Amino acid sequence: MRLLIAMMKHETNTFSPVPTPLARFGHGPGPLYGEAAIAAYRGTGSGLGAYLDLAAREGAELVLPIAAGAPPSRPVEDAAFEHIAGIICEAVAKGGFDGIMLDLHGAMVTESLEDGEGELLRRIRAIDPATPIAVAYDMHANLYDAMIENATVVSGYRTYPHIDIYDTAKRAGEILLKTMRGEVRPVMAWGNVPMLPHVMRQGSDDHPNKELQARVAAMSGPGAQGGALCASLFTGFPHADIANAGLSAVVVTDGDRALAERLRDELLNQAWSDREDFVYRLEPLEESLARAKALGSEARPAEPGGGPIVLLDHYDNCASGGTMDTTTVLAAILREGLDNVAAFAIYDPDAVSQAIAAGVGKSVSLSIGGKLKVPAIPGDSRPLAITGTVKTISNGRFRNKGPMGRGVLTDMGPSVVIDTGKVEIALISRHVEPSDLNCLLALGIDPMQKRYVMLKSRIHWRAGMGQMAKAVVECAGMGVCTSDYNQLAFKNVRRPIYPLDLPNR
Ligand SMILES: [Zn+2]
Repeated sequence: MRLLIAMMKHETNTFSPVPTPLARFGHGPGPLYGEAAIAAYRGTGSGLGAYLDLAAREGAELVLPIAAGAPPSRPVEDAAFEHIAGIICEAVAKGGFDGIMLDLHGAMVTESLEDGEGELLRRIRAIDPATPIAVAYDMHANLYDAMIENATVVSGYRTYPHIDIYDTAKRAGEILLKTMRGEVRPVMAWGNVPMLPHVMRQGSDDHPNKELQARVAAMSGPGAQGGALCASLFTGFPHADIANAGLSAVVVTDGDRALAERLRDELLNQAWSDREDFVYRLEPLEESLARAKALGSEARPAEPGGGPIVLLDHYDNCASGGTMDTTTVLAAILREGLDNVAAFAIYDPDAVSQAIAAGVGKSVSLSIGGKLKVPAIPGDSRPLAITGTVKTISNGRFRNKGPMGRGVLTDMGPSVVIDTGKVEIALISRHVEPSDLNCLLALGIDPMQKRYVMLKSRIHWRAGMGQMAKAVVECAGMGVCTSDYNQLAFKNVRRPIYPLDLPNR
């Protein structure tokens, strides 16, 4: 057996000012290729890790031409897409494969295309119309016809935070192997409904996505509720001004199209009837901080976790395309005098260099953040003047502790911690969302010892730190992940769409 395995992942925020050249893909300057990619992902809790395990189990020969994944940002530069898709298609063209296993995101927009994954699959099918293809997609995929029609089996994450990346690829890969052995004949039905679920309301531990994902799991489980080979409900990525942004579903059955369509419609109807519960309700920043202050001053807060009060600077989440350099929430924390705080993080390579030049233990005055303009939203992102001691200097590299992406090498670039006395501020040089506990531990910050931890995150922080948090306060700051959709000029998304246009019932 001979398998082709590849990864191309990017979640595109069309409102983001952060560029997406080829160099953004990978753990260093660009993607990994061949043996280097295999070495980086074998044994990890990633999609590629699952495909590599399946190949090993089957004793398959494998070709892994490229592993390219970049943190979310603006549309992918055409040259970067052509390079990645070109490498994969070149490998396909050499032929001789029994199966193709792809680890894709599903919300890639390029400078020229709304649907990067669909175009990749179309090109593969044009070269090789026959070899079965399995695709693992992120729950934030925005589905297009070509992403389904040109694949044999498609599977999406069932958790957000995404702690089932490995399981999703394994599920897709297992169905592909059964298809290759002639045991099943997958047919797929997909569809969408005109709604943009808010990312802050998409967590799979919360209503309504919790119930939707439970139904998804039951559809392919044993017994009367089942019948599908696999089902997926994609909450979608709303910060993409493209026709098909939003919620969609795909169901795979063994040769039974009517069943696939019926189960798909059931998922879409359930999501549509829950649409009001996917809307996020805003709280002004002053109120959030006052609440945080009150929580922090309670002598014995009887809350679960026993760890810090988490302050979520969720408007500027780099894993949704944020610049990670807006300072509104951090400035308010300093102004309000909150004590024993760790803040992760401000993206500012220049400030990092200045702190490194000063050295550990030295006092520095820095102007941090506010350097990347965000034209898609009103107002100016301003730099913040801070003075403090350089507490930590790090190369910013760590392996994920998990459960999300366990074992995968993460690179924050050169990183420092500045201690202002009350607040320890992490400054980093590459965009990394704090989804893993090791992002703080690698910088010498133990969140269990902090009264507050400010995180630029929306839902993924729960993977690493959700269990330890005493309380969570969502802080509306500034950034391209604004919860106020009225600030974003949607032009291309299909209309009408809820909640932009359609009133509640
Ligand atoms: Zn996602």
